[in-house]
Amino acid sequence: MMKINKLETFCNEFVGFVRVTADDGSVGWGQLSTYNSDITAQVFHRQVAPWALGADVLDIAALMREIPEREHKYPGSYLRRAMAGLDTALWDLRGKLEGKPVVSLLGGTPGRLRAYASSMRRDITPEDEAQRLLRLRDEFGFDAFKFRVARECGHDVDEWPGRTEAIVPAIRQALGDQVSLLVDANSGFSPQRAIEVGRLLEQHGIEHFEEPCPYWELEQTKQVADALDVAVTGGEQDCDLATWRRLIDMRAVDIVQPDILYLGGITRSMQVAEMAAKAGLPCTPHCANLSMVTLFTMHYLKALPNAGKYLEFSIEGPDYYPWQEGLFVESPYRIEDGGILISEAPGWGVEIAPEWLAKSTYQLSEVQQ
Ligand SMILES: [Mg+2]
Repeated sequence: MMKINKLETFCNEFVGFVRVTADDGSVGWGQLSTYNSDITAQVFHRQVAPWALGADVLDIAALMREIPEREHKYPGSYLRRAMAGLDTALWDLRGKLEGKPVVSLLGGTPGRLRAYASSMRRDITPEDEAQRLLRLRDEFGFDAFKFRVARECGHDVDEWPGRTEAIVPAIRQALGDQVSLLVDANSGFSPQRAIEVGRLLEQHGIEHFEEPCPYWELEQTKQVADALDVAVTGGEQDCDLATWRRLIDMRAVDIVQPDILYLGGITRSMQVAEMAAKAGLPCTPHCANLSMVTLFTMHYLKALPNAGKYLEFSIEGPDYYPWQEGLFVESPYRIEDGGILISEAPGWGVEIAPEWLAKSTYQLSEVQQ
C-alpha cells in the first residue's frame, strides 16, 4: 500500500493549493475552495490532514467517508472546502501514477466540451451586458450565455428598479434566437415573484433559471419548479449529502448544480451526480472562476452519463477576479468555437506557477518519523 506522507498548502486569502506526497515520493496537486482559503487551510491542517496522513493514497472514497464521521461535530462548509483540497490532490496523484487524465479515471474520455459564457455582474446595464456578450460571441464563438437577474438574496428588490424586466428581452434581442440563454437569480426571489419572472423567461425562450429562491428553502424552490416550464436549477451552495438526497428526492430542481470545491471534491460530486442520474436529472455543475475549479469540472462533466449541455465558463477578467491571474505555468483555459479541450495529460494536466507559490503562505503536515 502506498501511503500519504506529506500534505502541504500554499495559499492566500482567495485561493489555496494542496500538494500531497506519497511515501514513494510521488506527488499530486489539488485545490482548496476559493475565498477565505487561508481559513480553509487552517481547517485542512487541523481537521483533515491528521486523518489522511498514513492512509492509502488510492482509497480516496474511504477518506471522504471517514473524515466527515471523525469530524461529525463540524457538518458545515469549511470542512468540505478543506476536504476538496485533499480529494482533488489525490485524484491528480492517481492520474499521474496511472498515466491517465482524471476524466478517464472517472469513466469518460478527454476531448471537447461545449461551454457557456457566464457573467458574474449585476452592476452592468442591460445594454452594456448585451454588447459584452456579443463581443465574446464574435471572439470565441460562444453559443450559450448566462446573465444575472434579481439581486443576491434580494427579497424581491432588484439590483435597481426594472433591471430584470429590461435585461431579459435586451439580451435575447441582441444575441438572436439561435443561442442558449441562462439566468441566475442567486436566491433573489420569493416563490410568487420567481414564478412571475419565470413567465417572462419563458416568453423569451430562456432555458435555465438558476437559484430563483433562497437556496436553503428547498420547498420554495420546488414550488417554482412545479409551476414553471423553464428548467429550474440549483444546488451550488449545498455541501451536505443528506440535503442533496432530499433536494433530489423532492425534485426541488430540474437540473442539479454541484460545485466540486464547495461540496468536498470529485468523489462526493460523483455521488451527487449518481443520485441525480437515478432520479433522471441532468447535472450542470457550478464553477464560477478560472482557478483549478473549472478544470476539475471539465474532467467531471465529461465523465457523467447525465451531463448537462455545457460547462460554466466565467467571462470575468482581472478587474473582477484579480487573484486568478498568474496561477498556472500554462493556462488550461482556451475557448475556441464556443468549446474547450480537456488534454490527455495525466492527472489534471496543469502546473501551478512557481512564482505564485513563492509568494503564497506555506503550511506543512507530515507523518512523524
Ligand atoms: Mg449560481
